[in-house]
Amino acid sequence: MKVFGEPEQGGHERVLFAQDCESGLKAIIAVHSTVLGPALGGTRFYPYDCEEDALADVLRLSRAMTRKNAAAGLDHGGGKGVIIGDPRTLKSERLLRAYGRAIESLGGGYVTAEDVGTTIADMEVIGRETRHVTGTARDIGGSGDPSPTTALGLVAAMRGTSRFLWDSSDLSGRHVAIQGVGKVGGAFARMLGALGARLTIADVNEKAVRALANELGADIADPAAIHAVECDVFAPCALGGALNPETVPELRCAAVVGSANNQLADDALATDLAARGILYVPDFIVNAGGVINLAEEVGREYQLERANRRVHAIEGTVTDLLARARETGATPLDEAIALADRRIREVGGLPAPVGH
Ligand code: NAD
Repeated sequence: MKVFGEPEQGGHERVLFAQDCESGLKAIIAVHSTVLGPALGGTRFYPYDCEEDALADVLRLSRAMTRKNAAAGLDHGGGKGVIIGDPRTLKSERLLRAYGRAIESLGGGYVTAEDVGTTIADMEVIGRETRHVTGTARDIGGSGDPSPTTALGLVAAMRGTSRFLWDSSDLSGRHVAIQGVGKVGGAFARMLGALGARLTIADVNEKAVRALANELGADIADPAAIHAVECDVFAPCALGGALNPETVPELRCAAVVGSANNQLADDALATDLAARGILYVPDFIVNAGGVINLAEEVGREYQLERANRRVHAIEGTVTDLLARARETGATPLDEAIALADRRIREVGGLPAPVGH
């Protein structure tokens, strides 16, 4: 497969292959861009079918992090790490520490965090070999689980969307259909419930969805049909690809605002959604609360209040983005990409901010 991309496709600055035969570590770290600052993105521990799949995933995910971090106004570029294997059987202290040394060898060019298959506790182990790790536990000065902050960002994005569509950021009485009530979706549902929104929720975990519905007085929908519920806002908070050629024609909402990464099975669907009069607020703008929270931990003492203040700013970002899209006739996705590109162009290459 091709590793060296053309400049306009955003070629990667560095790709590191790291192996430790004793622990079984096989890892790839992709630093897509450090133009805005050290590349920030999580480590995925996953049983890829083959090395090519792992490489393709890490190249794609790190590129997406450059965009997300830039659009969020962070002083960070994009990067990502993958460890090949089943975390349930392969994970060990020796392996995580070998991985930590690989991160350290990049001299601060890459800062890691948890992702699928890694935990806060793993970050602490990796942190014994390198300072370039975020998302460690709050009781040791880290930013901890990012999910509540991601959910807070979702509420901010929802307010911005509501202000744009209905001239008011008040969410009481708004009907929101949430697909997936795990760490982010569950916290989001509770926050919306407290704000007086009407909720319909779905999850493949029947026990969890029933308990939450009882707690919040929410309606329950079939996970296979939640996207088709008639509502104000559909919130995909489970896996990627929730918006695909089968589901998009069945949507009956005014807007899509959710936390899942890669909601669009194909970027071209953003145009289909616009043609159907459905406002799609790009996932990487909506779910940036998690990475904003992590960035607060880099090079300084983490403060929850400061992180939350920055996350609340997602509301204004969303309203501005949607207004610009209306003005230009572009989709919100195109405008979000332009926002990230603009920041890289205008701020990229400035001397490192204090603390980095
Ligand atoms: P999670 O695993 O805690 O929750 C996902 C939930 O979705 C689970 O309860 C699961 O049972 C449910 N689910 C799976 N398939 C489903 C289906 N087909 N229909 C309905 N429900 C289904 O994960 P999370 O941390 O809450 O993350 C949710 C999404 O948000 C992911 O796409 C993640 O990448 C993204 N995200 C999370 C964060 C964060 O801070 N945790 C930050 C940015 C983006």
